[in-house]
Amino acid sequence: MEEPIVQYKDIHKSFGDVEVLKGIDLDILPGEKVALIGPSGSGKTTIIRLLMTLEQPTSGIIEVNGRNLWQMTDKKGEYIEADDKHLRSIRGDIGMVFQHFNLFPHMTILENCMLAPTIVSKKDKNEVRKTALEMLDKVGLSDKVELYPNQLSGGQKQRVAMARALMMRPKVMLFDEVTSALDPELVGEVLEVIRDLAKAGDMAMILVTHEMDFALDIADRVLFLNEGVIEEQGDPREILVTPKSARLKDFLVRFT
Ligand code: ADP
Repeated sequence: MEEPIVQYKDIHKSFGDVEVLKGIDLDILPGEKVALIGPSGSGKTTIIRLLMTLEQPTSGIIEVNGRNLWQMTDKKGEYIEADDKHLRSIRGDIGMVFQHFNLFPHMTILENCMLAPTIVSKKDKNEVRKTALEMLDKVGLSDKVELYPNQLSGGQKQRVAMARALMMRPKVMLFDEVTSALDPELVGEVLEVIRDLAKAGDMAMILVTHEMDFALDIADRVLFLNEGVIEEQGDPREILVTPKSARLKDFLVRFT
């Protein structure tokens, strides 16, 4: 059997007294596209922020490519807390696109894409530039590379954010409601780019989304999260067309 690229093992996460994830077990295979749906506050964003190491689990283990996110072994082979180098190296396998684009306004589109690989990873500038142009081409923005973020539409900005996330050629891409801050007429172009990436690549994807038709189209598996537990999961058609649990049925009624 193929080894998962991502494993969540009995993940619990609390903020203060409130437990928002109550034992998440989730294996994601290389190249697998997983759509995460569920009511607001059910813990969807927290699940992907944990993988991006933006949050640390209260208990449980997350592994990427068999490597524990928060633990590493020292020279004697004993387990110690992960250091920055370990976290950076794991993060290199993961790209994330947020609801808000988080682009630097004073930098061009090209510079935005080049920043992390040149500064953080200290890669060769010419190589990075070549990759950035390639990624911007992938998201259909070849003619905009010298513009600044405020000269672009919301949909175009989100496509820049995608190109930037692709720069490190991640094995896993995380999309956190990337269309929910966009004007309705701009949603299509962003979904189109994600669809192309999904169809083209062997990248695994976790998508938090309210776009059910889109999930049905591109996901290999849909997960319904409710109050911090995975309440139902499976084939997109089963989950979205013939849901079993009453809660999932109720939830879907609101989107159809
Ligand atoms: P979803 O993405 O499904 O809307 P979230 O993962 O964003 O849900 O949030 C789950 C719950 O955790 C919510 O009740 C939210 O208020 C809470 N929460 C998320 N992040 C924090 C934080 N940094 N501090 C305190 N509470 C948080």
